[in-house]
Amino acid sequence: MKNILLLAPPAGGKGTQSELLQERYGIISISTGDLLRKASKREDELGEKIRKTIQNGKLVEDEIVLELLTKRLQEIGDENFLLDGFPRTVNQANELDLLLNKIGIELDYVFYLEVPKDILEKRITGRRLCNSCGKIHNVYLDENMKKCSCGGELSIRSDDTKEAFEIRYQTYLESTAPLIEYYESKNILYRIDANRDIQDVFLSITSVMERNSL
Ligand code: AMP
Repeated sequence: MKNILLLAPPAGGKGTQSELLQERYGIISISTGDLLRKASKREDELGEKIRKTIQNGKLVEDEIVLELLTKRLQEIGDENFLLDGFPRTVNQANELDLLLNKIGIELDYVFYLEVPKDILEKRITGRRLCNSCGKIHNVYLDENMKKCSCGGELSIRSDDTKEAFEIRYQTYLESTAPLIEYYESKNILYRIDANRDIQDVFLSITSVMERNSL
């Protein structure tokens, strides 16, 4: 097993595919969005700052994200990992290179999940998050869904509004999309058509990994 990075626009399917990869290979998924959502629940100034930034669809300051990520990487030690939502800028990619260099680790695969904007918009408005286990659902795929399979209540993410989506999408185009070229030049980028059934997308990802002996 190797180290993976998922690159995608908002609602591109990073979270869903990382859940599947985690299930199949036991790889540890690190989502900076999840780390930040957890940190945003703190009843202090930092928690408030993170909460507002996420809600407005903006990027949280590098310093904050890097601190949370470094801590998590230290916790998992030698285990392989899957990064979901980091890096989001070329600066963060440089920081990640420095961090991984220091601990002698390399990134093996960057899967770029490609989805057109109009589809992302639809996914955003149907997306629900389980308050108990964090699983991601979409009411467009299952109209009768009222609760998570674990019994937990479903909620809408604070940044899954049309306004916040527009800002997140613009930020993605300006700051995150340049990473496609960044990783292409390192020969580790794989383009995946992610405007398909979840299992088909998963199959494309695992085929690449299995072709390269994982
Ligand atoms: P996600 O769950 O990946 O869609 O992230 C949700 C929100 O968390 C983003 O819109 C940002 O506000 C924040 N966030 C997540 N990852 C990062 C990152 N690498 N850098 C800055 N902000 C981030």
